[in-house]
Amino acid sequence: MAALRERLSWETAEGAVADGPRRYLLMRPDVLMGALVRLDEAARRSWLGAVAESARVQGGESLAAYAATVGHDSARLLEATASAAADLGWGRWVFTHAQQAPDEVLQLEVHGSPFAAGWLAAGGGTSAQPVCAPVCGMLAALASLLWPGRPVQVREQRCGVAGQPPAATCAFEARPQGPLQPPGQRRP
Ligand SMILES: [Zn+2]
Repeated sequence: MAALRERLSWETAEGAVADGPRRYLLMRPDVLMGALVRLDEAARRSWLGAVAESARVQGGESLAAYAATVGHDSARLLEATASAAADLGWGRWVFTHAQQAPDEVLQLEVHGSPFAAGWLAAGGGTSAQPVCAPVCGMLAALASLLWPGRPVQVREQRCGVAGQPPAATCAFEARPQGPLQPPGQRRP
């Protein structure tokens, strides 16, 4: 599969950027994250939760398309995901996938998260909570492809803007929850 940056088509007559049926939006991260800066803490929690869930469901469709092209090979899926993230300006993604049951875990370090950078650029300062919810959502979708039929738990363990001084890296973790279900009982 060609890299996402090579697949993206710039349909300037329509004012659209697309990868086949999936349309993309280019946006400055400080414009997006400046909206979050303007909310109070409770509203921020709601916004971040909603964005993570939207990324998991809507963004997960892109990951499912990548998975189909790499034949559901997990190493290649991680590689395709990191490559697409870089092409979309979502930072440099480095995965560590420990597959040893029962301690299966997928760790992700994101260097230069645009969400953390956008938060700082919009004047957010030190955040009381992690702000890279879109990455959490995509990681949840990815984990569901790696561990089909199992609920997953995802969290941002360390966000670059949630401490002082700010760090250039954010750390995330996904784990499967509960035992593998028999194929007949898997969710569609
Ligand atoms: Zn972060």
